[in-house]
Amino acid sequence: MSLETQNFRAWQVSEQQENGQSVYTGALVNRQIADLPAGEVLVRVNWSSINYKDALSAHGNKGVTRRYPHTPGIDAAGVVAASENGAFKAGDEVIVIGYDLGMNTSGGFGEYIRVPADWVVLKPAGLSLHESMIIGTAGFTAALCVEKLLHNGLQPSQGPVLVTGASGGVGSFAVALLAHLGFEVTAVTGSADAHEFLKALGASNIIDRAELAAVSPKPLLQETWAGAVDAVGGDILVNIIKALKYGSSVACCGLVAATALDTTVFPFILRGVNLLGVDSVNLPLAHKQAVWNRLANEWKLAGLERLETVVDFQGLDQALKSVLSGQSRGRLVLDLSL
Ligand code: NDP
Repeated sequence: MSLETQNFRAWQVSEQQENGQSVYTGALVNRQIADLPAGEVLVRVNWSSINYKDALSAHGNKGVTRRYPHTPGIDAAGVVAASENGAFKAGDEVIVIGYDLGMNTSGGFGEYIRVPADWVVLKPAGLSLHESMIIGTAGFTAALCVEKLLHNGLQPSQGPVLVTGASGGVGSFAVALLAHLGFEVTAVTGSADAHEFLKALGASNIIDRAELAAVSPKPLLQETWAGAVDAVGGDILVNIIKALKYGSSVACCGLVAATALDTTVFPFILRGVNLLGVDSVNLPLAHKQAVWNRLANEWKLAGLERLETVVDFQGLDQALKSVLSGQSRGRLVLDLSL
């Protein structure tokens, strides 16, 4: 049987009209490889993971996914089944994250993806496919944030580093990686039941999210943080900028709380602080490969599985809802063999 006529399992979101409103429903379906978009590399997906963007796609966010039916999954790790590009051959273990995967290109919640070769990274030897998806886009983004902070001069001797959205995917990985690199980490969380989890990952201090969200009319606050990884935006990011130590930086990667940023220029012009933007999606492939290599070597975290909850296709709907409502903890990993 040709590969093209082979069926595979995929979780597919459909759009229906009910009382003039669009309703989005996910279900496990059989699809055919021939229905996948054109691309140079066909990958048999073993593992995927669930990210905030997948939750948006699965719930009809047209800013993420324009057309349905659609198979989300911005992360995929698996084995090359066929390749028209000399850089990859059948049997290679690969990781695909970002670009258009899972947005408007059929994603990792299906047993096969077909993508351009310049979206594909060879899995480094120091990570298993499973471990690469415990990291996934969220952990990878946390690593990019840490890389940018280090590039801008952050050192452990400078004092505490703040991480917001700490019990989530980006936040939990940032806490663990910063602790691994010898930083004193303060975790900001709105989840009272996540304190033990965050301490076990290496957080020295924990701050209630509400405390950091309180709006102050002051343009500057006491210099407190040597650096920060912010996954939430809004008033929390404003307060971080106001309380960064002289010359230090916050890496901004997320918008869970808000997209608006209501601040003044004073922290920037009086304290020389830096607001560092972080994007994992369109990062050039060579940089992506270099960060994956680092995550498999000197940034390889012991006990990665402490971060994960494994789900199967049956648990996917509930897992996506928990992410959208801010209830998930750590990294949700999809095992496609179950
Ligand atoms: P998660 O849903 O896993 O985590 C988000 C965490 O934010 C929650 O667990 C919660 O943590 C906290 N939170 C939830 N609601 C609020 C709120 N209203 N105000 C403040 N904090 C809140 O998401 P991810 O960690 O995967 O992603 C975080 C953000 O990063 C998202 O906006 C995502 O789109 C973005 N992102 C950006 C990328 C990029 O390339 N720039 C790549 C990957 C993600 P707690 O309860 O501990 O406070």
